[in-house]
Amino acid sequence: MTPSGTNALLRSIPPMEELLNAPWAAEFFESLGRDQVKNIIVCILDEIRREIRSGFQPELPLDCLVVCRAAELLRLKSSSTLKTVVNATGVVIHTNLGRAPLASEALAAVNAVSGTYNTLEYSPQKAGREGRNSHVEWLICGITGAEAALAVNNNAAAVLLALSSIAPGREVIVSSGELVEIGDSFRIPDILAFSGAKMTAVGCTNSTRISDWRGAITENTAVLLKVHPSNYRIEGFVASTSREELAALSWECGLVFMEDLGSGLLSPLNLPFPDREHSVRDCLAAGANIVTFSGDKLLGGPQIGIIAGSKQLIDKMRRHQLLRAVRVDKMTLAAFEATLRLYLSDRREEIPVVRMIELDKSALLQKARRLLRVLRKTAAKLGADDFCFSLVETQDAVGGGAFPTDALPGFGVGIRGTSRSAESLAAALRMSRIPVIPGIRDGQVVLHVRTLLDGDEKRIAAAFTQALNSK
Ligand SMILES: *Cc1c(COP(=O)(O)O)cnc(C)c1O
Repeated sequence: MTPSGTNALLRSIPPMEELLNAPWAAEFFESLGRDQVKNIIVCILDEIRREIRSGFQPELPLDCLVVCRAAELLRLKSSSTLKTVVNATGVVIHTNLGRAPLASEALAAVNAVSGTYNTLEYSPQKAGREGRNSHVEWLICGITGAEAALAVNNNAAAVLLALSSIAPGREVIVSSGELVEIGDSFRIPDILAFSGAKMTAVGCTNSTRISDWRGAITENTAVLLKVHPSNYRIEGFVASTSREELAALSWECGLVFMEDLGSGLLSPLNLPFPDREHSVRDCLAAGANIVTFSGDKLLGGPQIGIIAGSKQLIDKMRRHQLLRAVRVDKMTLAAFEATLRLYLSDRREEIPVVRMIELDKSALLQKARRLLRVLRKTAAKLGADDFCFSLVETQDAVGGGAFPTDALPGFGVGIRGTSRSAESLAAALRMSRIPVIPGIRDGQVVLHVRTLLDGDEKRIAAAFTQALNSK
């Protein structure tokens, strides 16, 4: 485009006052406030100006384009953006989708204490202060066999607090095969550096022997750190050091043996493949002095990090300034306490993550058949005869860094459209009022049923109806 053409286009953008006075904008004043409506329109105008300067030639007249984009963004912002979605991906612990959905007991507990004053740091017996950790410490100790325990904001905070308390200015030895990155912001070497400890990496990527650990110990060493490799596995020739060997070595040299377990398995799961995860209890029994793990992975509770193990070490962490910055809120503690009590009273199957991981073939098949019926009925009602629904086998996953290479065999419903691509249908399902997040495989949309919760079939039917209308 010529410079004068660009300038003419830029000049044809309607003035802000005119836009703000239009009824389509005023409609959002009540929910968002006039200032936010203005800010959002400013963003859209900036975006359009940038595009025009880089050569974009709009198909619509500019005033229509502005109204179209601004109204869409305003609509999006005028209701909650943190909202329910249907997880039809088959990945049980899906970090982007909020990890573990809470058990109903946990939800009830959050409700019961959050709208009222509560005993967060108060003991009616003592008529005085009691630490907030006391609500969950005895439960964690009871379930894992730990001597003491501390709950913090998440597992990253647990690792950071533990290392900051035990090893500032001292050496922490870790295996080269376990220098993991989790998500995009948790890297063991970075957390170690941030805690003030000095990292000594030993061994090779695929092989670390006890002699490597022993050879790296100096008089400034404080901790032997074992890290759960979480989201990857090394196949082929692999030699790693056992927990028992590390425990014995740390005992012999007067060091702390700490393990970042990641996914905190509290009791063994029924799985269709060998259970490679060790429970927190196993790790402590094998001699780990400190174990850290997440509350919202295999445990199935809220976002929380747990430090369990030696009382003497945990008492040190309780006195550390950092604890104040990573302490846990009342809603989270309520949900966590209720979840732990389900383990205590042997009602694990009421925890959604546990239930979904353990779903057997016949239960999954039944779920898939039911969804298939619901979808066929919905399509028939809409007269949508250009879609083909079928029962498909799926590969589901535990997620959250547990069992990274083991698929859970599952079932789902495949949707193939004769006049619509899988990508386009999937996008429409994602953009419906309650978003449905599906998988795509072999050119068809696949709804994995393992991760569907109560009421999700109706939500999927509604999303499918909306998707057809939005075509
Ligand atoms: C998931 C994970 C973490 C991070 O835990 P958050 O609770 O997400 O902070 C740290 N270490 C390991 C080994 C993990 O798997």
